[in-house]
Amino acid sequence: MSEPLKDKAPQGEKAPKAQKLVGVKGMNDILAPESARWEWLEAQVRGLMARYAYRNVRLPIVEPTALFVRGLGEVTDIVEKEMYSFEDRLNGEQLTLRPEGTAGLVRAVVEHNWLYEGGKRVYYMGPMFRHERPQRGRYRQFHQVGAEVLGFGGPEVDAELILLAHDLWKQLGLHDVRLELNSLGQPAERQAHRVALIAHLEKHIDVLDEEAKRRLHSNPLRILDTKNPAMQSVVESAPRLLDFLGEASMAHFAAVKAMLDANGVAYSINPRLVRGMDYYNLTVFEFITTRLGSQGTICGGGRYDYLIEQVGGKPAPAVGWALGVERVLELLKEQGEAGQAVDPDVYAIIPETAALPVAMRVLQELRALGVSAQMHAGSGEGMGSMKSQFKKADSSGARYALVFGAEELAQDQVAVKSLRDGAGAQRSESLQTVATWAHTLQSTL
Ligand code: ATP
Ligand code: MG
Repeated sequence: MSEPLKDKAPQGEKAPKAQKLVGVKGMNDILAPESARWEWLEAQVRGLMARYAYRNVRLPIVEPTALFVRGLGEVTDIVEKEMYSFEDRLNGEQLTLRPEGTAGLVRAVVEHNWLYEGGKRVYYMGPMFRHERPQRGRYRQFHQVGAEVLGFGGPEVDAELILLAHDLWKQLGLHDVRLELNSLGQPAERQAHRVALIAHLEKHIDVLDEEAKRRLHSNPLRILDTKNPAMQSVVESAPRLLDFLGEASMAHFAAVKAMLDANGVAYSINPRLVRGMDYYNLTVFEFITTRLGSQGTICGGGRYDYLIEQVGGKPAPAVGWALGVERVLELLKEQGEAGQAVDPDVYAIIPETAALPVAMRVLQELRALGVSAQMHAGSGEGMGSMKSQFKKADSSGARYALVFGAEELAQDQVAVKSLRDGAGAQRSESLQTVATWAHTLQSTL
């Protein structure tokens, strides 16, 4: 807080202007009309999730830090450098703004013994927080939609989740999204691969960067995910995890692919796709576009059959994905998607303040019938000229203006003027019937 200025500013002199506050870097305000695109996307998601019988869950934004350290893995980008963590000022508990949604969901599932009566299909939407370098498609507060299936181990739910995401792109009208698929196998297979991988990387220790060296023994698989061009050839010649998979893992992978094939979903196998969190096993996948530069992954996910147990629950398999809302919207914009109109149906022009009580009552009747009505609001010193009111009405995007002039009101009427077809003629409508008129008209608005 700034110092009170009262004492310092002499009487009659203007106090210095308060310093302007700005938001936190990498955390965005989403204002109208931009927010209409978000609401539209959210509505599309809700509709689609309902058709797949996925239920909504709403979880806390703050979780114990230990949940992410244990769940995501200590040697991950997120836990090592991206978390917003702080101490509870009363009890000293270590807390973190959620960087992703899966760990919190699993915590809730375990806490409420929620899989007791069987598996669950759920989705969530909301803000996530990561301390990254802000750039296009990469923010410190960003938003995810996540879909997760808990308690089912079969490849059919992996495929169902991929179909769901694929359907969403179709429904949103997104093009240029490709699907990459891999299998990380099971822990024992990863262990055998890990030994071979470390041996390979040790042979090329001189080309490894500092981060890779640090991860060589703690998380060598993540080194395959490097974006460092100097390390590409050593990474490309590394032993492939896919070659270490046993029969059961291969069968699971083959089944997922067969179901995608049967549904006409194209994909490519990327043996180096490992994903950022430690908790994945078997199927992992990403939906990627080339149209957003290096922030091209719009959605990623996979199976995490051991996470529930790791968080202290009774072992149960699970699989899920999360998409980045900002990246999806950015890609839509890139494709020239027009955006969503949220204009009111009618704009109420109110020449004199005396007409306000009646006008407001009529507008309430319109709204009760589902008509979107915007009321002209004055400056506090009257309603403003007719000219300025009509200007506002035009720019509101409404199709009709209702003019609550004194003359019309004296005859229990209101003037109706079309705002779309040029100099539309003005006519009158009775105050008793104007709401039903607007309502029946609404289907053509
Ligand atoms: P990246 O490799 O781009 O850092 P990630 O692997 O860290 O992505 P996930 O943890 O898999 O991302 O999160 C799922 C999705 O959330 C990503 O595919 C992306 O669309 C989105 N996402 C992740 N981090 C950010 C961020 N900082 N800003 C905006 N969107 C993000
Ligand atoms: Mg990341």
